[in-house]
Amino acid sequence: MKTVIITGSTSGIGLGLAETFAIAGHNVVLNGLGKKDEIEATRARLAALGAGDVIYHGANMLKPDEIADMVASTEKKFGRVDVVIPNAGIQHVEKIEDFPPEKWDAIIGINLSSAFHLIRAAMPVMKRQKFGRIVAMASAHGLIASPYKSAYVAAKHGLVGLIKTVALEGAEFGITANAICPGYVETPLVAGQIADTAKARNMSEEQVINEVILKAQPTKQFVQVGQIASLAMYLTSDQAAQITGAALSIDGGWTAQ
Ligand code: NAD
Repeated sequence: MKTVIITGSTSGIGLGLAETFAIAGHNVVLNGLGKKDEIEATRARLAALGAGDVIYHGANMLKPDEIADMVASTEKKFGRVDVVIPNAGIQHVEKIEDFPPEKWDAIIGINLSSAFHLIRAAMPVMKRQKFGRIVAMASAHGLIASPYKSAYVAAKHGLVGLIKTVALEGAEFGITANAICPGYVETPLVAGQIADTAKARNMSEEQVINEVILKAQPTKQFVQVGQIASLAMYLTSDQAAQITGAALSIDGGWTAQ
């Protein structure tokens, strides 16, 4: 049984990861924004899925002290911190000359700096344990760029660089650090965008998927949350001990082009 902290796990990919780790019997620390009662309902649902405990910590990813507290209170409760998954992320799409500086700061803060603060706090615990698994949720945009996503692309490239550095620092302590780089993932957020775009452009939803959303993705299929969760689960296993410092694409061939 491992103890796993997943930031931004009240929704989308993070929630899918939390479910997978809970089903496998691990202790899971949920984190993210949302309504108190809905988060509690999610926590209780996940706790019933497996043998592990599921708790929630409300650390805001813009607050380094709260992130450190999440790690400290996890160690206090479970005695270990085996896996950290910096996953919380936000997006803003706009031309760089119009890009609001406060959006830049928020994206760098939530998508990049929070990973630094999480790993910084977890590293001493993992070194003491002589075991740790760090799995960062980067993006295809950690490897390549698209226009109008300056902050997101910068943050995700930065995250890949951070993970490489941490891999080197953890290598002799049984700690691995890797980045998962998904293409488009079918989260509720994206599903909503498909319906809205179909209406706005007078296209079928299938046309929107193929000609707008998945134009970059040769398979013309979304990555599924469960596929990312399987990769994350593998990266935390003993079999993956020699995979470290890697940026693993799961993007339907997007970055092969
Ligand atoms: P989502 O919007 O469904 O979930 C984001 C999570 O982050 C939520 O739980 C939210 O509450 C949390 N969060 C946001 N701001 C926070 C803050 N200040 N403090 C704490 N938590 C905060 O998004 P998603 O699609 O599941 O994305 C998850 C990660 O995967 C992100 O890092 C994203 O960049 C990455 N990603 C997503 C896709 C995709 O197509 N959906 C593709 C590649 C990478």
